[in-house]
Amino acid sequence: MDFHHFHCMPTFAAKLIRWQKLHGRNHLPWQNTRDPYAIWVSEIMLQQTQVITVVPYYLRFLQCFPDIKSLATASVDEVLALWSGLGYYSRGRNLHRAACFIAEAHNGIFPRDIEVIQELPGIGRSTAAAIAAFAYGERRAILDGNVKRVFARCFGIDGYPGKKRNETLLWQKAEELLPEENKRGEMERYTQALMDLGATVCTRGKPRCVACPLQQDCIALRDNRVDKLPAPRPIRPRPQKETVLLMLMKQGEVLLEKRPASGIWGGLWCLPEMPVSKNVIAYCTLHFGMKVMPLAHMPPLDHAFTHFRLRIHPRPLQVLSYPSATETQAQDDAMWITLDNALKVAIPAPVRKLLMQHGCPQSGQLPLENQLRF
Ligand code: SF4
Repeated sequence: MDFHHFHCMPTFAAKLIRWQKLHGRNHLPWQNTRDPYAIWVSEIMLQQTQVITVVPYYLRFLQCFPDIKSLATASVDEVLALWSGLGYYSRGRNLHRAACFIAEAHNGIFPRDIEVIQELPGIGRSTAAAIAAFAYGERRAILDGNVKRVFARCFGIDGYPGKKRNETLLWQKAEELLPEENKRGEMERYTQALMDLGATVCTRGKPRCVACPLQQDCIALRDNRVDKLPAPRPIRPRPQKETVLLMLMKQGEVLLEKRPASGIWGGLWCLPEMPVSKNVIAYCTLHFGMKVMPLAHMPPLDHAFTHFRLRIHPRPLQVLSYPSATETQAQDDAMWITLDNALKVAIPAPVRKLLMQHGCPQSGQLPLENQLRF
């Protein structure tokens, strides 16, 4: 290969940039803006959620909270209600906390310095870099799950990418591959290209290598190891825990309790929880002073957390009598709410599933409490 030829070979970045112009996503609602707040919100929502799911949530969020000040003056409940259904609520809580901090410490102006950005709750190195690239055109490397996958495959990097040693290697790679300078907005396009490629071409299952701008360089493709890379998370046995969630129904309303701020589902509205060892009827009498009657059985629901699996035994119950105190007492941490409205507040994903099953059982029966309307 002569020198001239070598010199004309497009770099990794150049290939991606060219591909992004033609095949990337260029009309997402958080694009074509330099507003760091709008970019920040989108990056947080996109952390564990796909673009197509994020879009309506993002639009609604920006409509309610168009800037840092409005977000900072909202209550965390209002923020979580808008987050309801997106999952990973700590993202919403952190967003709110960070907005309050910026309002107070930075006079409501999103920080310009990446070191400061990275210190905000909920923002790691990759998210800070994405914000700096999109909002300020800074030359910063991102490395989210999608990018790790692309790099692991393209450069044939073995080992689980979440492991410190491999991650360090991937970060090095990410830094090396950056466009040399940010001319003509190339940093923004390059950063977007990496995200787009991971989300639309180099997907986890069935990547579309024929449409990939990196197919000539890709080591995984060359060695026929696309399905082996990146290496999966090493399996460690996760303990299984069990719990009972009470679905107390009264005149079409269900009882929700607010979880304490710490622990699983912190700050979310949840069905009351009861230890599996207890008797449901006795527990309701003792705990709520209610007389209850079991409704049709619902099968257990399994939910996986990072560190354990939870088997949830739902217990739908018709409330027959209850102390009037629960009716009148103003309680901040418990409420009766219709199923429709319950789906609009911040509830954990499995509770959402249970309420939806309960509201419209797949068996084609009437909703359970309707069966009891004599
Ligand atoms: S060629 Fe296939 S495996 Fe390699 S980077 Fe492209 S899409 Fe991913």
